[in-house]
Amino acid sequence: MISDNAVSGAKTQVLDSIEAVRVWRHNAMKSGERVGFVPTMGALHEGHLTLMRQARAECDRVVASIFVNPLQFGPKEDFGRYPRTFESDLQMMSQAGVDAVFFPSEQEMYPDGRESVTRVVPNPELADCLEGHFRPGFFTGVATVVAKLFNIILPEAAFFGEKDYQQLQVVSRLARDLNLPIQIVPVKTVRELDGLAMSSRNVYLGEEQRLLAPLLYKTLTSVKDAAQSGKLSLQEALERGRNELMVMPGLELQYLEARNGDTFLAVTDFELPTVFLVAAKLKEVRLIDNIVAR
Ligand code: AMP
Repeated sequence: MISDNAVSGAKTQVLDSIEAVRVWRHNAMKSGERVGFVPTMGALHEGHLTLMRQARAECDRVVASIFVNPLQFGPKEDFGRYPRTFESDLQMMSQAGVDAVFFPSEQEMYPDGRESVTRVVPNPELADCLEGHFRPGFFTGVATVVAKLFNIILPEAAFFGEKDYQQLQVVSRLARDLNLPIQIVPVKTVRELDGLAMSSRNVYLGEEQRLLAPLLYKTLTSVKDAAQSGKLSLQEALERGRNELMVMPGLELQYLEARNGDTFLAVTDFELPTVFLVAAKLKEVRLIDNIVAR
């Protein structure tokens, strides 16, 4: 299946089987091209497209994937209602210059059933805290699908957003620990004009929650500024930020924490780089964000 884009004339080839990827990859290999890979769950927005454009700029061939991975969703999470917008995703990818998209079925990815698949267990120091604490099993699901996708696509480089900072750390460590010959390329978070980090889940936000949501980035910014300028100690700045968020009606804070931006180890005092990370529920919608002081 080929999608023609009337504006750019570009085409994104749809690869719906592992066999189709093998053929595509074989052709790229023959001509010695550098393949850049952008894994996604679809419902694409400007954040995803920025990853794709960066891959386009740095690589000869760009392949994305769209797969809503059931393994990384908890039993009470939004797997069933996660937005699926393949036709418009395809248009957007064509415009961003993506050469091919791997769009597998669950059967293709987990032919023996997802429950019985061999799991990749990520480094527990990176994966069991913060997101891993609130979403048990999440990073094992991510590490497993990323390892499978890497082995199917065999890219030279893979592009991941800083929006999911802990995920980026987990994946970078996975590549290092398993000696995968793949460069993990981080890409800065893309935001709406009011500071809200773009996310496929933002479509779930009701009018009231949408107005409240930019507060996360605002608070992260003020915590970072206070700690970086030395106006407050790191712990004081975090405490002030937590207090600001906890008193907001309609917002349920899960964590506001700081970590070393390189090692992701806990920090007691401000140092460079420090990453500030937040997660909160606005009604039923769970949002995460972070900001890095470098
Ligand atoms: P997802 O489809 O949510 O799994 O995201 C696919 C990739 O896009 C991940 O590497 C995300 O970190 C990245 N991404 C998602 N939102 C953004 C954003 N607002 N800015 C930059 N990267 C993003």
